[in-house]
Amino acid sequence: MSRSIIVIGGGIIGASIAWHLTIAGAKVRLVCEKPGGIATPNSFAWINASWGNPHDYFKLRMRSIREWSRLGKDVAGLPLSWQGGLCWDLPEDKLLAYAEEHTSWGYDIKRLDAAEISAREPALVNIPEMALSAPLEGVAEPRDAAMILIADAMRRGMETVENARVTALKRDTAGRVSGVATDRGEWTVDEIVLAAGAETATLAAGIGVDVPIHTPPGLLVHSKPVPPMLNGLVIAPELHLRQTAEGRIVAGSDFGGTDPGTDPDAAADELFSKVKSFLKGGENLELDFHTTGYRPTPKDGFPIVGRVAGRDGLYLAVTHSGITLAPALGLFAAREILDGEDEALLAPYRLQRFA
Ligand SMILES: Cc1cc2nc3c(=O)[nH]c(=O)nc-3n(C[C@H](O)[C@H](O)[C@H](O)COP(=O)(O)OP(=O)(O)OC[C@H]3O[C@@H](n4cnc5c(N)ncnc54)[C@H](O)[C@@H]3O)c2cc1C
Repeated sequence: MSRSIIVIGGGIIGASIAWHLTIAGAKVRLVCEKPGGIATPNSFAWINASWGNPHDYFKLRMRSIREWSRLGKDVAGLPLSWQGGLCWDLPEDKLLAYAEEHTSWGYDIKRLDAAEISAREPALVNIPEMALSAPLEGVAEPRDAAMILIADAMRRGMETVENARVTALKRDTAGRVSGVATDRGEWTVDEIVLAAGAETATLAAGIGVDVPIHTPPGLLVHSKPVPPMLNGLVIAPELHLRQTAEGRIVAGSDFGGTDPGTDPDAAADELFSKVKSFLKGGENLELDFHTTGYRPTPKDGFPIVGRVAGRDGLYLAVTHSGITLAPALGLFAAREILDGEDEALLAPYRLQRFA
């Protein structure tokens, strides 16, 4: 008989886990307050295995980039674009060290000179002397990707309970985590996946599990749609920016967003004026709106994924870089839950490391 599983969370992480569990044959009910997520729609959504990652984490991110390609074939209409990244957001010695290290790990990086950069991104006002091109980097338009995964899983039999707030995780008399209480009713199942983003810690705390995360805010500006200006992701010291398929320029002081401070409107105006002076023709750009997202970020910066000691029936998945990592985490979570596998790439990312 197929296992009954509740996935709490309809952001990119919950959606991916629910989709992978559904196609593996589980009887899945996705319960969430906001389908499409909370952090997810406010994300810069850069898919990458770029600098600053230890080798284990690099391998997980690389695997997930490959899993995005697989998912893109399995799920019609996923809004993926492999536009590549152009990066010079490090001092030159660090940029070269990153290129050397990641090239030795198998990351496809090409060094471009000023003429090549100008040819690649003719809209840049200031052309650096050198930048690194990483052609395998891309973007998943985040909310649409989560919604499409949910819709596809529903076509394959998943049930979704939207606009439902989980108020507590329930344990049975043997201590197993076996159900949820919500404002729409209570349900008992074989397994619970907790992928509630920034709220994961609160729900876990209700059953005595400490999930150490913080939730830094990140503000991004979104222009009104304009004809194509950028050919790919631009990761510059002043700004990180990209252009969406519908033509919006999305930018932050880095991909994690700008600190909104006490006056987000003022922070957005200041950021957008930088965007305008960064691009040729930028004076014609108009700010449409700004978003502030709260990144669910484990205290040491790495994912928390897997079962929890002493809380049978519970599987946790909370992470920053969730857009990059969603397909791999979804695939591995489904295998670990349904087949009892221990995925080696997830070994460094168990909750138990904080014990
Ligand atoms: C500004 C910004 C920039 C970012 N840039 C990048 C980037 O470039 N690349 C990258 O890979 N990642 C990036 N991230 C991180 C990435 O967006 C997140 O890691 C990812 O979106 C987390 O997804 P999630 O599904 O875990 O959480 P969320 O999207 O927050 O979804 C949480 C879900 O849980 C539900 N939920 C929560 N509590 C309850 C409850 N009590 N009852 C019912 N439902 C509940 C919510 O309704 C929602 O559906 C960025 C994030 C931000 C904010």
